[in-house]
Amino acid sequence: MNSEVKSAAARAADHRIARIEGAAPGPTLVVVGGLHGNEPAGVAAGRQIAPLLRQLAERLRGDVVLLVGNTRALARSRRYVDVDLNRHWTPNRLESVASGDGDTVSEDADKCELIEEFHDARARSRGDMFVIDLHSTSAPGAPFVTLGDTLRNREFAMAFPVTIILGIEEQLEGTMLSNLNEQGMVTLGFEAGQHEDPASLANDIAAIWIALVTAGMLEPADVPDLSEHRRRLELAGGGRRFVEIRHRHPVRPGDGFEMRPGYVNFQPIARGETLASDWRGPIRADESGLMLMPLYQALGDDGFFVARVVRPFWLGVSRVMRRSGAAGVLHLLPGVRRQIDNPNVLFVNTRMARFFPLQLFHLFGFRKMRWTDDWLTVTRRPD
Ligand SMILES: [Zn+2]
Repeated sequence: MNSEVKSAAARAADHRIARIEGAAPGPTLVVVGGLHGNEPAGVAAGRQIAPLLRQLAERLRGDVVLLVGNTRALARSRRYVDVDLNRHWTPNRLESVASGDGDTVSEDADKCELIEEFHDARARSRGDMFVIDLHSTSAPGAPFVTLGDTLRNREFAMAFPVTIILGIEEQLEGTMLSNLNEQGMVTLGFEAGQHEDPASLANDIAAIWIALVTAGMLEPADVPDLSEHRRRLELAGGGRRFVEIRHRHPVRPGDGFEMRPGYVNFQPIARGETLASDWRGPIRADESGLMLMPLYQALGDDGFFVARVVRPFWLGVSRVMRRSGAAGVLHLLPGVRRQIDNPNVLFVNTRMARFFPLQLFHLFGFRKMRWTDDWLTVTRRPD
């Protein structure tokens, strides 16, 4: 690290904006802003809401912890210093940092400090743990929610009158929320809008109030202008619907990736449309759908995502199937085996399993771990 980064690091390590302890026991809500250093709206939201929550402590059930994510990157207004902190929570990475092996990067320090904050929040918690992670995007467009697809997460997300994105965790490895989800916390990612747009801050604040009421920590009447906050998200977010991620375009260093200008989140795109280009030539859409998170900034590994609306019918089917207990007998299907020590991991021989394996397993709450040659590995978290 050069000295400029070091001095920023020395200043930057304080992650806690505030911890507000409610008079009555109840869940803990942890709010993280600025996990990406060029997304300060979530941090500003935490700072604005903290004094209001202190005034409401008598009415609050449970505790609220307001955190700053990548402090060192925020000090430099960059997405990250060395590596993307929100792709950095893989089990291998966590172990090697804990044991002191391997090269350390700036983000290791922020991650370790955040882990301590989560340990502390959990140790002092007087109920269930909820986490919302506040982000913003380089392209303009409506706010939306991203979800690790468990029934509990879905239920929590339903309170937000915006588009809910399923399947993002199949595409991204090592996100913070995926890690916290594994630990049994209810999690939700909130994308507030464009980085510089003042509306993003207001959307974040609205999302925090809605989360507090949904988690049962405040009565609707305790929140100043709850209906205003709901209306704000409804107008900006276009109402609730589910979409699933169909495709991610990864960007590697040296690709010379350039997004075609002018896309906004959720803009409809047609199959064959030229979306971007790199040194290989034009990049076209494999299928029609909705443009999501087109990359209009220098740093980032995701060029764009293509999403598709999920019909409510299929959401109902999947809820019934998950609750039916039938997932426990999926390994009896031809070509499907269960991992011996973990029934939540299935291996599917896709030459033998002549159905649509990934779609079927999605309905039962499984998601893809890998798909190599003829073997699909899927896993699920217990709902
Ligand atoms: Zn972000």
